[in-house]
Amino acid sequence: MVMISAFAPSEQSLVYSPQELPAVDVAIVGAGIVGLSLACALRHSGLAIALIEATPYARENTKGQAYVLHQVSRYFFEWIGVWDKLLPHLQPFELTQLSDEGSPLTVHFSAEDLGTAAIGYVGEHAAIAETLQSVLQSASNVTFYCPWRVVSNEVKGDRAQLTLISAHSAELQAAHLTARLVVGADGGKSPLRQQMGIEPKGWKYGQSCVVATLNVAHTQPVMAYERFWPTGPMGVLPLLGNRYRVVWTLPHERAEAVAALDDRAFLAELQPYLDPLMAEITAVSDRFLFPTQLMQVNSYVGDRFVVIGDAAHRCHPVGGQGLNLGLRDVWALAQQILKTPLEQLGARPSLVQFHRQRWWQNALTLGFTDMLNRLFSNKWWPLVAVRRCGLWLLRTVLPLKRLVLRFMAGLLLPLPR
Ligand SMILES: Cc1cc2nc3c(=O)[nH]c(=O)nc-3n(C[C@H](O)[C@H](O)[C@H](O)COP(=O)(O)OP(=O)(O)OC[C@H]3O[C@@H](n4cnc5c(N)ncnc54)[C@H](O)[C@@H]3O)c2cc1C
Repeated sequence: MVMISAFAPSEQSLVYSPQELPAVDVAIVGAGIVGLSLACALRHSGLAIALIEATPYARENTKGQAYVLHQVSRYFFEWIGVWDKLLPHLQPFELTQLSDEGSPLTVHFSAEDLGTAAIGYVGEHAAIAETLQSVLQSASNVTFYCPWRVVSNEVKGDRAQLTLISAHSAELQAAHLTARLVVGADGGKSPLRQQMGIEPKGWKYGQSCVVATLNVAHTQPVMAYERFWPTGPMGVLPLLGNRYRVVWTLPHERAEAVAALDDRAFLAELQPYLDPLMAEITAVSDRFLFPTQLMQVNSYVGDRFVVIGDAAHRCHPVGGQGLNLGLRDVWALAQQILKTPLEQLGARPSLVQFHRQRWWQNALTLGFTDMLNRLFSNKWWPLVAVRRCGLWLLRTVLPLKRLVLRFMAGLLLPLPR
């Protein structure tokens, strides 16, 4: 990977402003986990790839996020040949406990129910991103432009022309880069998607997630918790090194107030919501606040343009699905790119196939997370009765439990081929 930074001065700080940057076959805008994964998936393709990231990646890596990676993501990372490098940075868990406020009907899922070694794996953003970046170091066909921000995309014949700026050096610099195909992996707000006229559809939940990391005296057994409260679901995910990641959904105003509490007051507020068997908490990190929403664009495809990951869809964090869907997009798109003849790369017909494959699969999971959140963030007695019934069925009917687990692990829907 060639690193082109806008920072001066260094031998690698090649500043092309305002001239043309070398043309590429695929330009990936956004080097979050989704953008980085696509670059990794295409590193042996022989295609010229540009990966463009607006945020200096040292800073980006400090983002306090952690993700559950489901089995489908494991298969994807195996397919692109990076799973062995990622695994040492992930905490596998074999048990998941699902509970509903005040109900004795706790459901336990185990890896055995799924027929795999683990139900899932929890990884922190920095560790996953750094591993993928290190894999790209040896990819001579990938050029990493960072920190450069894409400000516009214009289609000219059979090429798209991106305009990039960097405001990180003393003077504002601008550059042009042309590509056969531009991939928008630029996150939920996706300025590029907006510029290409692709409209998002969906709604905000009026809830936000307060996210924090807890250090505990010991973790045994290594278990993930999904705890449902009328105020919203709470995920408690095991991290490497006797730590847990708490993702606590609350009505927005309460979430803001809780996130602003000092460590002591925050822990006092949190403790009643945790599993009583969880080990003693020894420290708590800073708190981060994430508003929740459901969103999907009508079409993943524009002129020489395609959106993937959060730029195409967002869902409630319940069940930890968002990034897993994004990685599945990468899998499907990479397969499509690899089987498309070079002269047709970026042409609509090849991209439409990708859209057809991914749109409905993502819609299904988005709908499921929406249903879970509405069903459980609720005190209305008919809904309470329905969900208690559901929990009872999950506890008693093993094939149903296995079906739900396989759906959540991403194994029920056909894998990209
Ligand atoms: C509280 C919370 C918990 C979650 N937990 C889970 C979980 O357990 N499991 C799971 O699967 N998902 C989870 N998710 C969802 C997950 O965080 C997202 O789906 C995932 O991070 C999306 O990755 P991405 O690469 O598409 O977007 P991002 O991570 O947003 O990356 C987009 C990148 O594009 C860059 N960029 C933006 N604009 C430009 C531009 N103009 N030019 C250049 N670069 C640009 C940004 O700087 C950024 O680096 C959770 C979400 C939340 C809010």
